Amino acid sequence: NRSDVHYFGAGPAPLPTAVLEKASQVLLNYKEKGVGLCEISHRSPEANEILADTKQAITTLLDIPDDYEILFLQSGGTGEFSATVYNLVSIWVEKKRAKIAEEVGDDQAEVLKRLRQVVAEELKLDYLVTGSWSLKASQEATRLIGAKHVNVALDARKANDGKFGVISAEDQWSLTPRASGGGPAFVYFCDNETVDGVEFPAFPKSLEGDDAPLVCADMSSNFISRKVDVRKYAVIFGGAQKNVGNTGIAIVILRKSLLPPSSKGASPDLLRELNLPVGPIVLDYPTIAKNNSLYNTLPIFDVWIAGQVMAGLVDAYGAKRIGGQEEISNEKSRLIYDTLDKYSNVYRVVPDKTVRSRMNICFRVHGGDADKEKAFLAGAEKKGLLGLKGHRSVGGIRASNYNAVSLEGAKLLVAYMEDFAKSA
Ligand code: PMP
Repeated sequence: NRSDVHYFGAGPAPLPTAVLEKASQVLLNYKEKGVGLCEISHRSPEANEILADTKQAITTLLDIPDDYEILFLQSGGTGEFSATVYNLVSIWVEKKRAKIAEEVGDDQAEVLKRLRQVVAEELKLDYLVTGSWSLKASQEATRLIGAKHVNVALDARKANDGKFGVISAEDQWSLTPRASGGGPAFVYFCDNETVDGVEFPAFPKSLEGDDAPLVCADMSSNFISRKVDVRKYAVIFGGAQKNVGNTGIAIVILRKSLLPPSSKGASPDLLRELNLPVGPIVLDYPTIAKNNSLYNTLPIFDVWIAGQVMAGLVDAYGAKRIGGQEEISNEKSRLIYDTLDKYSNVYRVVPDKTVRSRMNICFRVHGGDADKEKAFLAGAEKKGLLGLKGHRSVGGIRASNYNAVSLEGAKLLVAYMEDFAKSA
């Protein structure tokens, strides 16, 4: 029975029971129309209202300024690894083209010649690789535009025996220099690494300032779990299926100045001339924005779920907004980490103390002894504490502490961890 278990899965992840109960009703009959929510048109007034309400909820929660746009795409988080590259490289190229055209005038052949040179010499995307998801994103960038354009400004494994679990000091990063209008097309990082349990404690200082680069952040696994200064980012994205909703949509928060009329992307013909990729239309931010995320059939049910979850947080935390959730997330993760530290003879937290994720708490039992870890998981399951197995790539235990995990659930996990440690 649902009420007998606490589920710590890493995503898909638990959703508030009240939202799921309401969902089961609207699936059958939405607003007494006799038609279910998965059956209504994505262009109906009802769907438009759901979109507007969901945008409003996330805007309220995260205090999103007017000069940001919110998009919903079916890309998953992974699709955004590609979308960020397609969209921001295209904008970068168009900016360079316009500047060269200003200098050389109408001579198209000369513009193209110079642009080719600028692309060859200056096009760089900076990636901070702090775990397996930012690694994947950097690999996708490499696949799309080639290794010579991808600067891994930080590979966190290098300072940690080949394993993720630390974030080196910023003066160790090799960001593309910004002098004289240069700099990377964007800097990319993953705010919370779901597999490795590594979370940026704060926004990197070296990405701030008047000449700050465009910053893209993957917040798939810590979306709406703490305050975010949205203005520091060009693009924030996340798959919904952890803190926000169910699988099916990704949410993108995008600086409007990256959209027409302020910014234009390069034409597909020009990108082809330059051997740069032309992105699929369903990942094209200007197209999605212009169509209010309804360029093609958006899964409105998934948007509704996200909207309900976020409206629930708006109601729960009022003026505190996401700060209210942040307090609870911090409290739950503190309880769990304190217990792990207290029984350090039994448990070992995987990442370094300075970068421990509040969302994905990764640890080993008895130094990673396979039988002991199995026993830990089996005992947890008996108590109704589910979804604690670590990612298959790294093993161990992972307690995902998303928003829908209650304080009570965290306390029951802590009690079990205490019992297990004492009996070990
Ligand atoms: N980024 C992060 C941080 C993730 O945790 C995940 C999925 N667990 C992804 C990206 C990929 O998301 P998706 O499976 O929706 O493509």
